[in-house]
Amino acid sequence: MSRFFSSYYRELTPYTPGEQPQDMPYIKLNTNESPFLPSQAVKKAVAAEIDKIPLYPDPECVSLRHAIASKYGVSLNQVFVANGSDDILNAAFMAFGNPETGVAFPDISYGFYSVYQALHHLPAKIIPLKDDFTINIEDYVHCGAMVVIANPNAPTGLALSLDEIERILKTNRDHVVLIDEAYVDFGATSCLPLLQAYDNLLIVQTFSKSRALAGGRLGFALGAPELIADLSTMKYSTNPYNVNRLTLAAGKAAVEDDETFQHNCDVIARTREETMIAMKEMGFSMTESKANFIFAKHDGIGGEELYLALKAKGILVRHFNDPRIVDYNRISVGLPSQMSTLVAALREILTERNAL
Ligand SMILES: *Cc1c(COP(=O)(O)O)cnc(C)c1O
Repeated sequence: MSRFFSSYYRELTPYTPGEQPQDMPYIKLNTNESPFLPSQAVKKAVAAEIDKIPLYPDPECVSLRHAIASKYGVSLNQVFVANGSDDILNAAFMAFGNPETGVAFPDISYGFYSVYQALHHLPAKIIPLKDDFTINIEDYVHCGAMVVIANPNAPTGLALSLDEIERILKTNRDHVVLIDEAYVDFGATSCLPLLQAYDNLLIVQTFSKSRALAGGRLGFALGAPELIADLSTMKYSTNPYNVNRLTLAAGKAAVEDDETFQHNCDVIARTREETMIAMKEMGFSMTESKANFIFAKHDGIGGEELYLALKAKGILVRHFNDPRIVDYNRISVGLPSQMSTLVAALREILTERNAL
């Protein structure tokens, strides 16, 4: 830390992204990216846009927002887009996190929530998941704070029902309830049907997981026009051109190409189920993931030991040091061929340890 670093931020512990090592080619199953190539439509759209790169992009992102609005059946003023959903989470914590009441979120969830909460100096209400890693809805009823929940949750993959989310919305009318649907396309239910009835609901989604654009950095939020206007105020107070021209073009093409999107999501969901069956036969216990990852542990090997053994074989998965989940690894669902390689590697590792 330099001696110039603001005292306002001195206590900050930044987010640790999953590793992106460049030393050798790995099978990357550690950051929940899409294993698919961009569609032809996306490639074409980006190529067609490149000559305009000397010019600033549309700060209102109108044509992309139109495409999202029509896909999800909402109006233009209910759609906000930003440089990845992280950018949206940051704006939302800034806009809707109240310094008196703060923000509530589960103890085991997306690691960035506690970073944004600390960044914006908000009181935190960190609510433990139950022992089986499910969310106890009653903990969030009348909780008196902004609520942030990933649905499905990460890294557990467990999803809430619409009724459960509605109960949180109903009992927290004076606070924003942010539902982070980064993984919703792989088998959970979106709370989009609740959008018109609840002006405190903010749905956040990303193009990074189900739409194969993690490197493009694009996220979007759906909510009441007033919430969207507030996010826009934050954007115009920080970085109005936060979504670049190539990403706007890629995102629009990706939203309009519903066939590729559906196909890719179906393949991931099917591959997840097939991989889980194979892992179950090997003795892994896993949560009932509705996401594009598997959350698994094995009695015959520690979480970190398994992570390191896989890495030595060129397969990256994500291990977290949090004591509640230290026995687990989060394994992104890749292509069927990558998952076959994973299953074979797991079998070797367990055999070597007489744990099969
Ligand atoms: C990956 C992820 C994000 C961030 O997505 P970006 O759009 O790439 O910034 C947000 N929330 C959750 C729960 C995620 O897993």
